[in-house]
Parts: sequence; C-alpha cells; structure tokens
Amino acid sequence: MLKTIDGFDRIGEENAFAVLARATELAQSGRDVINLGIGQPDFKTPDHIVEAAVKALRDGHHGYTPATGIAPLREAVSSDLHKRYRVETDPGNVLIVPGGKVTMFMAILMFGEPGAEILYPDPGFPIYRSMIEFTGARPVPVPIREENDFAFSAEETLSLVSDRTRLLILNSPANPTGGVTPRAEIEKLAAGLEALPHVAILSDEIYSQMTYDGTEHVSLLEFEDLRDRLILLDGWSKTYAMTGWRMGYSVWPDTLFDKARKLAVNAWSCVNAPAQFGGLAALNGPQDAVRDMVAEFDGRRRLIVDGLNAIEGLSCKTPRGAFYAYPNIRSTGWKAKDLASALLEEEGVATIGGPDFGTMGEGYIRLSYANSSENILAALDRIKNFLNFNSLKT
Ligand code: PLP
Repeated sequence: MLKTIDGFDRIGEENAFAVLARATELAQSGRDVINLGIGQPDFKTPDHIVEAAVKALRDGHHGYTPATGIAPLREAVSSDLHKRYRVETDPGNVLIVPGGKVTMFMAILMFGEPGAEILYPDPGFPIYRSMIEFTGARPVPVPIREENDFAFSAEETLSLVSDRTRLLILNSPANPTGGVTPRAEIEKLAAGLEALPHVAILSDEIYSQMTYDGTEHVSLLEFEDLRDRLILLDGWSKTYAMTGWRMGYSVWPDTLFDKARKLAVNAWSCVNAPAQFGGLAALNGPQDAVRDMVAEFDGRRRLIVDGLNAIEGLSCKTPRGAFYAYPNIRSTGWKAKDLASALLEEEGVATIGGPDFGTMGEGYIRLSYANSSENILAALDRIKNFLNFNSLKT
C-alpha cells in the first residue's frame, strides 16, 4: 500500500463540481436540467480580451514569463487597485496566479500546521476549510448569520482569535450568501486587529466588482496599518467572465511576497502567457462589458429573490453582492441537502445545499442566478410545484 501524508485523509473538495457532473449526466440522458448550481458567469469573455490573447500567441508570446507575471500586467493590477480604492500598491507586491483559488491555497499552506488555528467564514467557500484541514491546523469557523444580513460581525470574529491564531480569512461580497459587510463593521474589525499583530489576514475579494443597489465594496487594502500582514485575493474569473482562463492575482506584504513567489516557481513556473495578455486587455480596455453584466445580474437578482419569497416555506434576504441567492428553507421541513438533491433528481433544478458551505449552512440552499431570466423563472415554477406537493411541514 502506498503511504501518502495524513492530510489526504482530511482534504475536502467542492460539491458544486459533483452537482455539475450529476446535472450534466442527467442532461445527457435527455432530462431538461436548469443549472443554478455552478458559480460562474454565463456570459462570454468580452471579444477584445479574447482577441488580445489570440494576438499574443500570434506575436510569439508562447514561452515562459517571469514567475511573478508579466511586468505590464502587475502594473495594470496596481493601477486598477488605485482606481478602485485610491490606494498605492507596489507592482512588486503583485503576484499573477492561475485563478483566485491559488492565493488561498498558498496563504493557507504558509500559515497552517498542527497547533495553529485559522479562522474562516461559515458558511463560506468550501476550499478554505478543506485546505486548513489538509495542513493539520485547527479550523475555527466564524459564524455568518442571516440576522446580520450575512455580513461578518467584527465583535464575534475578534472574540474567536486566540494566541494560536495565525490567519483570518474574510470574504465580502460573499459566497454562498451574497452578503456584503458594511464599512462600519470592517473599520471596527480593522481597529480590533491592530491589537492582534500575530494574525495575518487573507481577504478574498473575488466578487469585488459585483455589488448592487449602490452597495459599497470596502477593500481591506484601505487599512494602511494592516498592510504588512494583509494578503489580497482577487482575479479575473468573475468580473470578466473568465473562469476557465485561470487568471487571478494576489497582493502580498513585503515579508511574504518572496515565499509566495517561491511557491509559484515550485508549482507552476508562470501563468499561461497568452492568458496574461488577455488579462491585461481586460484591465486596460473598456469596462462596459463588466457594467452590463452586473446590470443583467441585478435584474435577475430581483427576479429570483421575489420569486423565492413568493413560494410558501421559503424566505430569502436580498443579497447585495456576488450572484447567489441564499433562501432560508427551514419552514419547508426539508433538510437542505435532501431538498437540493430532490430538486435536481425530480425537477431537474440544480442548486447546492447550504451544508456544503459549512455547518452553519443547514436550513439554506444556494441558487446561482448566473442563468437566463427565462430559466430562472422556469426553475422557480418547478421549485414551487415541488414544494406544493412535497411539503414536509405537518
Ligand atoms: N473565492 C470565492 C469566494 C469563490 O466563490 C471562488 C469561486 O467560486 C473563488 C475564490 C475561486 O475563484 P477561481 O475560479 O478564480 O479560482
């Protein structure tokens, strides 16, 4: 028997991919499936981005690039951050990485080991916990509550920090809830963290450009006093509909940058060269496609929230960011994963059960509205019919 490290007994994965596989299987067998399970924009990458990547290949950019990314792209990330948050970021601290996930992988590897504690949002992106467990560190969930509009609470977060805490993971706008933490709460958290200099912060801001109703996204980058221990995670996947390109970036403090660079050299050498030129065109080119996509998501968000709230047994807070609705299903009497599975098998509607995002997820399901309004309306009809006939409430 081959003996691998114990971490593999603990590593998890993302159930969204299993749901996608099952939804595809059902569709291939002839079933009419509406996929509200997967978290990726249903738009095409804008043409000028695709053209820039094709041109890069034609121009001969098919070799290795520096492990940290091509210089103009790192500079473009710095200018973009300045434009959006009015903060200075040295391009020398920007690392171009293959997708958003990679930054969390590196940061958790850097700080996780037996005896250490890492705080992460629950419900939250499942890879946080999976990777923490892999390293042998103790995962400490920070509850994200509906009564707090799915924002994180500064007070509760700070109360969970111990001497053993190495890393705090934050995510706003959030997956799976669509919650956006308001400025006052983030300021309170930042002030509290000043007294806890042993804690590094990983701020996952992959949905930074997807907020609605004029809701402000506050980047942790704004807090100058935290910059020497802040890792920013962002990327192109969601903003520019580029999930399959695997393009992300992180901003690292001086003391960590070289460790991250070495991990990059050891693992992937550099990000796909033409994809980096696509990423450059995305940041430097027109942003109307981003605005149009967010406006379209906004319309669907209203549609899905109104539709869910009109179904007996469901209640759904209006999400202020990302592209997920996260209704409370408790009054139906169903367990969340059973309901998600029944909706897929019996009605052909793919959703994800809340427990796939953490223990706090029981009582909720996640629906991605990265699908057409027509499909969303059809899915809502099917969910309504299903619950009419299958309410477990006595
Ligand atoms: N962070 C969060 C909160 C996400 O929801 C996702 C993707 O769903 C990612 C990171 C990963 O993004 P990428 O596809 O760029 O790796």
